[in-house]
Amino acid sequence: MTDSNDAALKADKAAYEGNKLTKRLRHHVGDAINDFNMIEDGDRVMVCLSGGKDSYALLDILLGLQKSAPISFSIVAVNLDQKQPGFPADVLPAYLESIGVEYRVVEEDTYSIVKRVIPEGKTTCSLCSRLRRGVLYRVAEELGATKIALGHHRDDILQTLFLNMFYGGKLKAMPPKLVSDNGKHVVIRPLAYCREKDLERYAELRQFPIIPCNLCGSQPNLQRQVVKEMLNDWDRRFPGRIETMFRALQNVVPSHLADTQLFGFVDLVAGEVPAAGGDTAFDKEEFHDPQPVDEDGQARKRISILDSRPKESACGG
Ligand code: SF4
Repeated sequence: MTDSNDAALKADKAAYEGNKLTKRLRHHVGDAINDFNMIEDGDRVMVCLSGGKDSYALLDILLGLQKSAPISFSIVAVNLDQKQPGFPADVLPAYLESIGVEYRVVEEDTYSIVKRVIPEGKTTCSLCSRLRRGVLYRVAEELGATKIALGHHRDDILQTLFLNMFYGGKLKAMPPKLVSDNGKHVVIRPLAYCREKDLERYAELRQFPIIPCNLCGSQPNLQRQVVKEMLNDWDRRFPGRIETMFRALQNVVPSHLADTQLFGFVDLVAGEVPAAGGDTAFDKEEFHDPQPVDEDGQARKRISILDSRPKESACGG
């Protein structure tokens, strides 16, 4: 085989893989939006853009869905320039101009506040994110946004689950949809079904102009790093485990946990119909290898954002 044939084959394969990846991510985002009713007709979605791979992918995929969705919603991208030293302030506006999306860059020097308030060597992230959240909520109100979209993905959600278990003594992850702590906004995470490694490959494929995330000089969260490595190690050794764990978050059986607030253990009496999920009490539980997971296959509900918009008839009806 000649070198040029070889190069053409490689290019074809790369194009095929890129296409498959794009479709997979689009379906994962569409399914999450449908399952949690994240975006409705008439919504104005504020997409928070940090300059990292995840938020670029989020914006890109939502813009793609917006073009064909059977519902109509608007998108406004928002970047908060926190005045970290070396922040390349021109990168995001140039990108957003180039794709023609409505956007707002908000300048707020939260960096100086964090540096002033937190003693040297202490972790700065919690105050920093609190300040950022406050600014973003204010901007959402100014822009009339009905939804605030964040770029957290499935790996973030699972990492948070384990962090809460290991360090917080709570069975709690990161919700795909929630009401903001000031009660005024609905926050959504449309990448909830997307894997980080897919988002990394997508960012390369689409050549997003990534802004490094360590400009603030903060130390990485070591606990999160350890949990991330643990999950990556499981993923290598036991393919499918990550998918199964995420499905577990969607199949909770309160009667088989031990939270007396969540399930009425205290008032339980004989003679009632067994709780859903059934209890075999004296039998040994049997576990099977997880079913192979179809990366694209999630059940859809209601009107799907992945459906095509109906074509208008010639008479405009
Ligand atoms: S890494 Fe830096 S910018 Fe990010 S939350 Fe922590 S302090 Fe803030």
